[in-house]
Amino acid sequence: MRVLAVGAHPDDLEILCAGTLARYRRDGHQIIMAHACNGNCGHFIIPPDELAAIRAKEAEAAAALLDAEVLTLEGVGDGELVADDPAQRRAMVELIRRARPDVIITHTPDDYMPDHVATSQLVFFASFFASTPNYKTGTAPHHEAVPPIFYMDTLAGANFLPEEYVDITDTLEIKLKMLECHQSQLVWLREHDGIDMKEFVEVTARFRGLQCGVRYAEGFRRLRTWPRATTARLLP
Ligand SMILES: [Zn+2]
Repeated sequence: MRVLAVGAHPDDLEILCAGTLARYRRDGHQIIMAHACNGNCGHFIIPPDELAAIRAKEAEAAAALLDAEVLTLEGVGDGELVADDPAQRRAMVELIRRARPDVIITHTPDDYMPDHVATSQLVFFASFFASTPNYKTGTAPHHEAVPPIFYMDTLAGANFLPEEYVDITDTLEIKLKMLECHQSQLVWLREHDGIDMKEFVEVTARFRGLQCGVRYAEGFRRLRTWPRATTARLLP
């Protein structure tokens, strides 16, 4: 399968679903990691353009650990994502057409952060119209299917009750290694906000593991509208 994960910012996938992406990869699937915004507001001291360049490199380094391809909407800063903006919709459709996913993972539509919510809405829109030939974008041909969507956990699992779980006991280590690639965020959050992101992620994974009887897990919900349903188990 081709698995497309779309986060709002360059470190969201590492925090919320990288253990599952690593399981997919181990099973021989192709991973595409996308972020909608360039992460240019994720710091108080490093200027936006410089930070966006740093974060693009961090995302590439993390993705390389899974041999994953990285896609992004070009030139969208943090806080600039608007779900009903026609240009951003078209850009997301083109991104999905390039990724040709069999399954998509993205933020839940009631996430805490406006960019996360807008990403979820854009992916919902774009994953439908990617298969509509008369909806014109760039060069990528229209997609053959309207792929299933899984919603990944929220930060600290707040306001999110998973319906499905993935055992990431064996992939927590690589998830944490991927997270470590985002040094601009880890150092800043520790020094400025007193948050240890590695501990944060481990505790959340342990809590989800507790719920489903394994050491570490990630939790997901599923978009249930037609024609996204299937009888197959698509998560690892
Ligand atoms: Zn984010």
